Amino acid sequence: AQDRYASLRNLPATGTCGTTIQLYMNAGLMADLPSLEGSGAEGVGLFRTELQFLIRNHVPQRAELARLYRHVMDSARGRPVMFRTLDIGSDKVLPYMKPQDEPNPAMGWRAIRVGLDKRGVLRMQLQSLIRAAAGERLHVMFPFVSDIGEYEDAYRILMHELSREQRLGHDMPSDIRVGAMLETPAMAFAPKRFFEMCDFISIGGNDLKQFFFAADRENERVRRRYDTLSSSFLLLLQQIVARCEEARVPLSFCGEDAGRPIEALTLAALGIRRLSMRPASVGPVKHLIRRVSIIELRKVIDAALQEGRPNLRRPITEWLARQ
Ligand code: PEP
Ligand code: MG
Repeated sequence: AQDRYASLRNLPATGTCGTTIQLYMNAGLMADLPSLEGSGAEGVGLFRTELQFLIRNHVPQRAELARLYRHVMDSARGRPVMFRTLDIGSDKVLPYMKPQDEPNPAMGWRAIRVGLDKRGVLRMQLQSLIRAAAGERLHVMFPFVSDIGEYEDAYRILMHELSREQRLGHDMPSDIRVGAMLETPAMAFAPKRFFEMCDFISIGGNDLKQFFFAADRENERVRRRYDTLSSSFLLLLQQIVARCEEARVPLSFCGEDAGRPIEALTLAALGIRRLSMRPASVGPVKHLIRRVSIIELRKVIDAALQEGRPNLRRPITEWLARQ
C-alpha cells in the first residue's frame, strides 16, 4: 500500500487552496525508524519513550538510553524528533514495577504524575536526552499534563538538569524546545501562562477523546461510540486552536485520528497545521489533502456548526464526494 503513494513521498501535503500541513510520524521502537525515509514524514511528532522501557525486564541505564536516543536522532538525519517522557501506568505497566492496584488506571498514577512523584527516573531520562542531543536541537514533550503546576514542575526539573549537565562539562544541545501533550479537557481551559510557557503543544487525541466523552479507549463496548466529528468534540478542538493561536504556540495532533484521512482533513481545516500518525497513514492522508481546498472545508464546517448539526461526518463526506 505504501508504494501506491510512493510518488507523493517528496511532495508537500498542500491543499488546492495553498495551505500546507506538515505530516509527521509516531514512533517508539528502533524498528519504526526506517519508515521515516519510506513514508515521506517530515519528522517524528511523537516518540513514545516508554516502549523502550516496556520491552526490557530491567530499568535501562542512563548511558544505554543516551546511546539509544542518539541513534534515533541520527536516524532522523536532522528531522525533528519530539521525545515524549515516560508515559507509564494506565495501560502500560512495566514488568519491573510494582503493579498498582488502581480502580481506574487510565485516570490514575500515570505519565507525568509518576515522573513528578518518582523524580529519579524522570531526571535520569532527561539527562539521557540532554546527553544524546549534544550539538543538536532537542524537543522534549511532557505527557498527560492536567494542571499548569505539573507543567511548571516538569519544566523546572528540565532546566535544573540542563544546568547540571552543563556544570558537569557535557556537550550541550544546540537548542531546546519544551512542550506538553494536551490530553485532558482541563488544559483547553488552562491559564494563558501555560500556553505561553510551551514552545509547542501536541494534542493526544486518544486520551483527550476518552476523557471528554468519559469513554474508555480500551473498552470495545464504548470506544467507538462517540465520534471525533461530533460537533462537541470539534468545538473543544476549536477552543484549543484558539488558545494556541492567542499565545502563538505551534499546535500538532498526534492521536490515531490524525492518520484517518477524513478526520485528518477536518483537523487541518480547524487550523491544526501539523499531524503525527503511524507511518503507513502518511501517504493516504497526503493524497487526500492534496486533492481538496482546506479553506473551503473550513466553510463547510463553520456552516454546519452554525446550523447546530450534532455530527459533521455527513456534511463533510458529502462535500468530499462533490470534490
Ligand atoms: C494520545 O493519547 O492520543 C497519544 C498520542 O498518546 P498515547 O496513545 O500513547 O496515549
Ligand atoms: Mg495519551
